[in-house]
Amino acid sequence: METSRKFIKSEINYNGGKMVKAYCVKCKVKGTEMQSPAINKTARGGFMAKGKCGTCGTTMCAMMSKDNADKAMDSGEATKAF
Ligand SMILES: [Zn+2]
Repeated sequence: METSRKFIKSEINYNGGKMVKAYCVKCKVKGTEMQSPAINKTARGGFMAKGKCGTCGTTMCAMMSKDNADKAMDSGEATKAF
């Protein structure tokens, strides 16, 4: 029972990924899913995802915490670009 509970929990955490979201300046929609995001490291040591809006194809950028950047890369949702 304990094992199946853990399995369900991890499923929720990584359910389809889709952790990388950003504001699309063209669609003017917050929380738009980023297509093929690539994680970059900023000069200040932060993380930034760069990808394209799934709706209009405009390039989007989003600042990310190290935690979320790691999760996105671990889940395979985002590629490592640094
Ligand atoms: Zn868009």
